[in-house]
Amino acid sequence: MSSLKDGVCPKCGSRAILPNADAVEGNALSIRIYEKAGVVLRGMKNFPIKAWVCTHCGYTEFYVSTPKELRRSYRRSMAASGS
Ligand SMILES: [Zn+2]
Repeated sequence: MSSLKDGVCPKCGSRAILPNADAVEGNALSIRIYEKAGVVLRGMKNFPIKAWVCTHCGYTEFYVSTPKELRRSYRRSMAASGS
C-alpha cells in the first residue's frame, strides 16, 4: 500500500512530493474532539492535519500528526457520551 509518505506519488509516479505541509484556511485544518459531553473548552482537543502533496499531478493526502493521541482522545469522548 503506497502513499505520498513513501516519497513517490501513487497516482503519477513522481518524486516531487511536498511533505508535511500545513493545510490552512485561517488556522490549521484539524480534527476536533470533545472529550467530555457538554464541555465546550476544557475537554476540547484539536489534532492538526498535515498534507502531503504531489507537485507534479496535485494528488494530496492528509494525515493527523498524532493519530495515537487522537485515538485515546476519541475513546475518552466515547466514554463521556455513553453513560
Ligand atoms: Zn502525482
